[in-house]
Amino acid sequence: MTDKKDDQILRDTIVKVDLGKLKHNMKLIEDMVGPTTAVMAVVKANGYGLGAVGIAPALMESGASYLAVATLSEAVELRQNYPGYPLFILGHTPDRLLPVVVEQNITQTIFSMEQAKIMDDAYAKSGKTAKVHIKVDTGFHRLGKMPSPEYAEEICQICALEHLDVEGIFTHLALVNDEEDEKQYDLFMNFVEKLESMGCSFKYKHMADSIACVDFPKYRLDMIRPGALIYGMRGFHKGFLPVEQAISFSTRISQLHQVKAGEGVSYDYMWKAPKDSVIATLPFGYADGYPRNLRDKGYVIIRGEKAPLVGVLCMDQCMADVTDIPGVSEGDEAVIYGDGSDGSMTIEEASKLAGTNKNDVIARIPARPPRVYTE
Ligand SMILES: *Cc1c(COP(=O)(O)O)cnc(C)c1O
Repeated sequence: MTDKKDDQILRDTIVKVDLGKLKHNMKLIEDMVGPTTAVMAVVKANGYGLGAVGIAPALMESGASYLAVATLSEAVELRQNYPGYPLFILGHTPDRLLPVVVEQNITQTIFSMEQAKIMDDAYAKSGKTAKVHIKVDTGFHRLGKMPSPEYAEEICQICALEHLDVEGIFTHLALVNDEEDEKQYDLFMNFVEKLESMGCSFKYKHMADSIACVDFPKYRLDMIRPGALIYGMRGFHKGFLPVEQAISFSTRISQLHQVKAGEGVSYDYMWKAPKDSVIATLPFGYADGYPRNLRDKGYVIIRGEKAPLVGVLCMDQCMADVTDIPGVSEGDEAVIYGDGSDGSMTIEEASKLAGTNKNDVIARIPARPPRVYTE
């Protein structure tokens, strides 16, 4: 199954997404946390590059309680495709856009009475009850306010608003070390307890991302918020879950060149052929999200063999040395990122070579390469 018919895939450079693996990973996660903990599947940044619209049904069919994005723009794209899916915005939405959140039936992260009032007022126009989760800062200092008597009072007043459903309360771990995590946990739980003693109640208390939900069962609470884990990224340290990488990235050779010993390749002739060589042009570049600093480190797999990238990576194309690959031909498939079983570069390896993390490697793949979904 693909999202596009073959004649609609207008490029050889494609991102392949294995929906079967996504579902497998979701099942592992749900079995791990059990039925009392809901799974909010994080699909921000276009589903970490896998394509949020393309993977949403598989995640919902797998039992996700929410699909979470970072921005209203991301939520609206999903809403236009899926009128009925429960959507959550993890990030800040500017005040002027909060009525749109209510109108679109999206659950919003908030941290002030001003935001709550705007959403409560939006009920009058739309007739839709606004749903929110309150963000508590426990040290990360990114979004939310630190626990204080004033914030407790403010949250109680928010909970009393007539047309607002305060469905949840959450915080986010900085994952500094066990001791700091525990401090954040205690701060959060004590604050929630205080709020409950003041008469507030929350269906969902949550704090765990991918790493925290595997490593620390105690932090799973009513809901977890995995992103990377669903896509098969193994970032945890203490616990273990055999999730599988659901994304691969491939292209096809557009042209072969016979290059004489001493001749240069690509901008500035940064690479010169040490001997007579066969060079393959590949139609992907840094504008397809491939890290430009993988020059001299990157490689693709062609006919089961490693072909090192040579010369400077261009925006839309790059070159690989295929001299030692018997039978190499124009049109041959080249695996850019794979699961490693064919010797291909995994997301994990790419992240190490590029000096970044795995989420960055996949989330930076832009919309340009078509997504092809297989089951
Ligand atoms: C991105 C994000 C997550 C998911 O993070 P992963 O490390 O990919 O699991 C969870 N919670 C919040 C608030 C986030 O911004």
